[in-house]
Amino acid sequence: MKIADKNTSAVSLVKEALEKAKKYEDKHIFVSLNEENALKKAEEIDKKIAKGEKVGRLAGVPYALKDNFLSKEGNTTASSLILEPFHSPIDSTTVKKLEEEGAIMIGRTNMDSFAHGSSTENSYFGPTKNAKDDERVAGGSSGGSAVAVALDIVPFATGTDTGGSIRQPASFNGVYGFKPTYGTISRYGVVAMASSTDCIGFFTKNTEDMNLLMEICAGQDSNDMTTLPDYYNETEEKEVKKIGIIKDFDNDKVDENIRNALAKKVEFLKQKGYEIVELSMPTLKYALAVYYIIVPAEVSSNLSRHDGIRYGYRSDNAKDLGEIFSKSRNEGFMSENKRRIMIGNFVLSSGFYDAYYLKAQKARTKIIEEYKNAFEKVDYILTPVSPNPAFRLGEKVNDPVSMYLEDVMSVPINLAGVPSLAVPAGTTETGLPLGLQIVGPRRSDKNLLKFAKILEEDK
Ligand code: GLN
Repeated sequence: MKIADKNTSAVSLVKEALEKAKKYEDKHIFVSLNEENALKKAEEIDKKIAKGEKVGRLAGVPYALKDNFLSKEGNTTASSLILEPFHSPIDSTTVKKLEEEGAIMIGRTNMDSFAHGSSTENSYFGPTKNAKDDERVAGGSSGGSAVAVALDIVPFATGTDTGGSIRQPASFNGVYGFKPTYGTISRYGVVAMASSTDCIGFFTKNTEDMNLLMEICAGQDSNDMTTLPDYYNETEEKEVKKIGIIKDFDNDKVDENIRNALAKKVEFLKQKGYEIVELSMPTLKYALAVYYIIVPAEVSSNLSRHDGIRYGYRSDNAKDLGEIFSKSRNEGFMSENKRRIMIGNFVLSSGFYDAYYLKAQKARTKIIEEYKNAFEKVDYILTPVSPNPAFRLGEKVNDPVSMYLEDVMSVPINLAGVPSLAVPAGTTETGLPLGLQIVGPRRSDKNLLKFAKILEEDK
């Protein structure tokens, strides 16, 4: 992604990216473009290069920003009405680090409002279309970012993954999507969904770019008390020998194309000399239920700050303070946001806290233990990202439970806080991308990306 030593200029790279973004306008990838600022920055970088001044590792590289990252450039909406318009006075840590290395944000990408969803259909601005098929969803919630990379508009885009929002759209569009170990990248300046599972990560076309972005963005941040010291040396590099596959996922519910893709990769790994170990992880079947208790609980708390006073939208129809709160929230949030706020308030209410929230927390500990035990037997685990390839637009919007089932294979990983990389794994006969994920032990991020490179060889 370096440009300082190439026969190109930052301006031409940024112009090209903006042109492509406009060419694909119908896909609805971007919520807003950052044209003027981006070109100005590109000119500055070109001037520096011409003068022989030192430039960053991402000098002149255009990128797309998921619209839940705060940046002083433009407005952050999280694809919701209630944040419209919200101009941030700060840059999120990720934006700051990327910009310090010379990366140039060309636009903000569409997402499910507040990252609640698995298809980018819950956006206030309308859905994003799949990179390969206009009638299918992009996946979500980081749908716009995944499609922006898949269509080569930009070489990388940011995402957030609370329960699969990077990995699932990555797999629906045939790109790499990484959810690091919880706490590896600072969450400062990112609109919170569920603070105990939110992770910042990226979409790229290969594992090397991913590694570079991790090197740049990972690390402790005094603004986020959950950040970890660094990304490098926590787990020693050891020889990878054993790869686990999980036998408890209900195979009948997994699309045949995905089962075949997994079988093919397993065969490839066997030929490379890896031992394949079947793992029994029976607790994972509770993960979806646990997730849809803990996450709404945290969502209801995080979204309470949107009251029609502090940020963005305020209802015109309010007669008094109470109505400002209730009407602004009612008009400004989307149905899925409201559903989660209601579930969250319910599971946290005094009558139900022990029965739901506390029990879910105990089950979460079991899930964490189950991964720990699994990683005593194997180095990495290979599983599907979701039970199916990209589904049709409109197919699941009116059936929240079937939408939640999309997350059955991605959420356990967030609950456990372990890293996982979605890797492309071929296509269906009709050309729809398929994806698998490589899950590693806590803090194995760097080694995991190295190992994933081996899978890149199997096209
Ligand atoms: N699809 C999941 C949900 O709706 C995950 C969302 C996310 O990771 N932000 O909760």
